[in-house]
Amino acid sequence: MKFSEECGIFGGVSTNYPVAPLIQQGLFVLQHRGQESAGICAGDKDLYIYKNKGLVMEVLNDRVIKNIRGKLGIGHVRYSTQGGSDSTHAQPYAVNYLGEKVAVAHNGNVKSAVDMRKKLEKQGEVFLTTSDTEMLLKKVIRELCKTPSEWTFEEVGRILTENFTGGAWSILFFVPGKIFAYRDPHGYRPMSLCEAEEGVFVSSEDTSFQMLERHLVYHIEPGEGVEITRDGYEIKRFAPEMPSKKCVFEQIYFARPDSNVFGRNVYMSRVELGRKCAIENPVEADIVVPVMESGFAPALGFSQQSGIPLQMGLMRNRFVGRTFILPEQYMRQSSVRRKLTPIIDVVKDKRVIIIDDSIVRGTTSREIVRMLRQAGAKEVHFRSASPQIVNTCQWGVDIPTKKELIANKYEDVDGIREFIEADSLAYLSLEGLKEIFGHEGWCYSCLMHD
Ligand code: AMP
Repeated sequence: MKFSEECGIFGGVSTNYPVAPLIQQGLFVLQHRGQESAGICAGDKDLYIYKNKGLVMEVLNDRVIKNIRGKLGIGHVRYSTQGGSDSTHAQPYAVNYLGEKVAVAHNGNVKSAVDMRKKLEKQGEVFLTTSDTEMLLKKVIRELCKTPSEWTFEEVGRILTENFTGGAWSILFFVPGKIFAYRDPHGYRPMSLCEAEEGVFVSSEDTSFQMLERHLVYHIEPGEGVEITRDGYEIKRFAPEMPSKKCVFEQIYFARPDSNVFGRNVYMSRVELGRKCAIENPVEADIVVPVMESGFAPALGFSQQSGIPLQMGLMRNRFVGRTFILPEQYMRQSSVRRKLTPIIDVVKDKRVIIIDDSIVRGTTSREIVRMLRQAGAKEVHFRSASPQIVNTCQWGVDIPTKKELIANKYEDVDGIREFIEADSLAYLSLEGLKEIFGHEGWCYSCLMHD
């Protein structure tokens, strides 16, 4: 069963023109959140759906978008690495019910869906996908048992809260004439709203609003949501406040540096992570080299703090996507070399500090160290701008099984250092990370043992 998805959602209601081109653009900005499939549902009362495997601009190309009418719509980009990655799992997920159509687009992960699904199956429910999103929608349908145009924001919010609190869901519903957006009461995943000249929109990351003539941007709070219609929008609380569990990995790796996630600019956070890492783990060297892209900001911070110059010692082929997406380990290994190549004149005979945002399986780090040595680096010191990843994620970040995590394979950091063949290896401490983000209000689960 597929329960690890990192996704992006974008939807809303446009003022004057069809909403589809805006959703296309919004999703394009969110492409980093999911490269496996893309999809859109749009219409006014009726609904047109188009989704498939592939990147946003392939699936939702201009020819497709031109034919999608309607001012209301939701869109989704999806990314998964194990199973359930065929086109039926692309979202939005839509059904016909009592002569109307209803659709959802979901970012997050609802673990309780496994048991609930079994229960519903025993009651005769059939599922077309293994995804928690379909289950979530079907649960809402079963609880309401009435035509979707009669659904209210409050009752859908109540059903979500009663049944799925503890899970992560930033979720968009398309019901005839209305868009409902909800952020779960713990607020694991980000979600923002924008009121603009072009309409009212909700997105996983606020940077996707930069294409709009913005009047207002609002970061939706945990347990809050928005109801949007052609007549306007209303931000509403649908669930009581609960301890907030903002995913720290959004800041470390997942979100775009130009986004403000959970009240912090991601780029600035990453620079700070690099600075802290330099304070905690100094080493004498000639240059600091980032693992592009997500290692750039922490490397800059490391360089600023240590005074060691930042150099582009590794060139990234911009036409290669995120290597993590490849399902097999051997594919990932070779793809690191396809993605990154050393600039020999920069690293040759140098003592190099290489900075990445995180080390997960160790595949990337080991290949990089080898490449740098082949390119003539005299010493290679690896620094991770996040603490060791020791646990999987139940709330929607795709982290492999515990036993695949390099941090769990070795007793100590020196074992990992030996595996990645570096001269030295150090991680930012969990304490250091918490000093930056705060001790409370964040989900640090993947950085902590059970
Ligand atoms: P690994 O090679 O398995 O150690 O993965 C580490 C690399 O993957 C780093 O360069 C990270 O930027 C990136 N990464 C870390 N976490 C994730 C994730 N959940 N999804 C995709 N890429 C990731």
